[in-house]
Amino acid sequence: MDLFKSMELEGDEQNPEIKNIEKVRCLIIGSGPAGYTAAIYAARANLKPVLYTGMQMGGQLTTTTEVDNFPGYPDGITGPEMMEQFKKQAERFGTDIRFGLATGADFSGTPLRVTFDENTRIIADTVIIATGATAKYLGIEAETKYAGMGVSACATCDGFFYRQKDVAVVGGGDTAAEEATYLAGMCKKVYLIVRRSVLRASKAMQERVMKTPNIEILWEHQAIDLFGENGVEGAILVKKKGTLEEETVRIKIDGFFLAIGHTPNSDVFKKYIETDPAGYIKTIPGTSKTKVPGVFAAGDVQDPHYRQAVTAAGSGCMAAIDAERYLAG
Ligand SMILES: Cc1cc2nc3c(=O)[nH]c(=O)nc-3n(C[C@H](O)[C@H](O)[C@H](O)COP(=O)(O)OP(=O)(O)OC[C@H]3O[C@@H](n4cnc5c(N)ncnc54)[C@H](O)[C@@H]3O)c2cc1C
Repeated sequence: MDLFKSMELEGDEQNPEIKNIEKVRCLIIGSGPAGYTAAIYAARANLKPVLYTGMQMGGQLTTTTEVDNFPGYPDGITGPEMMEQFKKQAERFGTDIRFGLATGADFSGTPLRVTFDENTRIIADTVIIATGATAKYLGIEAETKYAGMGVSACATCDGFFYRQKDVAVVGGGDTAAEEATYLAGMCKKVYLIVRRSVLRASKAMQERVMKTPNIEILWEHQAIDLFGENGVEGAILVKKKGTLEEETVRIKIDGFFLAIGHTPNSDVFKKYIETDPAGYIKTIPGTSKTKVPGVFAAGDVQDPHYRQAVTAAGSGCMAAIDAERYLAG
């Protein structure tokens, strides 16, 4: 299929901001497990993929130390090392990997158009969006100070390191309730720090939390700081902030888990791609296809449920196969 036949470049050529225009068969946006896996499959299928890394080359896993749950690494591996291996494997089959940020997209017709760094226009037969999702943090300085030293935004990923220890989970929604219950299965004690006097979680999840003996809910508490010598040893909370009953509370914990949501990196594509209210890209169930022909989504950007490296990689594989079949007509 040659989608370029109907292409009109005049508009782009007249835009003084656009310095480079290039046609590709398969454009992959993002360099996490989803993007690199899509690249491995697309390159081996001879789609000659071009992959733009975004600002975080290697994705979220480059911010963590040990990855113990990705199959194939019986002794574990550090996140940055693992992502370097993903990159090498994608390069081995000829993926063209470039540093650049998608700053605009036009999926109003074919071929598809994506702008990088405001000055490069890629005109593509197929686009695989693998831009991930960013965990939300409270915005307190201590979260940065103790990053990887007791602060985590992923209980499934890091809970194992806190077996038989005391931890706190921040949040009042379904994710927080799920993460608290998950951690309660391996930790000695779990504090659930809830800003309000009620949980937003579903009734079923609330019941599970209430029934779990080693979860203690700290209602109307807000975390304002963490302390510890070589890692988190405790948190400072304010109870009933802004009321006459306001008081400062200190709890001793080894791990501080944020569960206040994620922001999918889908803004650039939102004009054309359907998303759910939180911004996750909607795909046709069981596939990586979006409603726009030729545009596929993989990894955390389309996954409100699992958000794991292995599921991201799996969906990257799906996206490359879907793209290859789309091109084959
Ligand atoms: C601290 C931490 C520890 C974790 N530990 C584990 C673990 O032990 N095991 C596990 O399975 N999972 C773990 N996870 C979750 C795992 O990292 C994610 O599920 C996985 O990285 C998602 O992969 P992805 O490819 O969808 O997106 P990401 O890894 O988020 O990659 C997204 C990519 O998109 C790029 N990008 C974003 N916007 C743009 C744009 N506009 N233009 C171009 N590129 C863009 C970014 O630069 C990045 O390269 C952890 C997450 C964190 C934060």
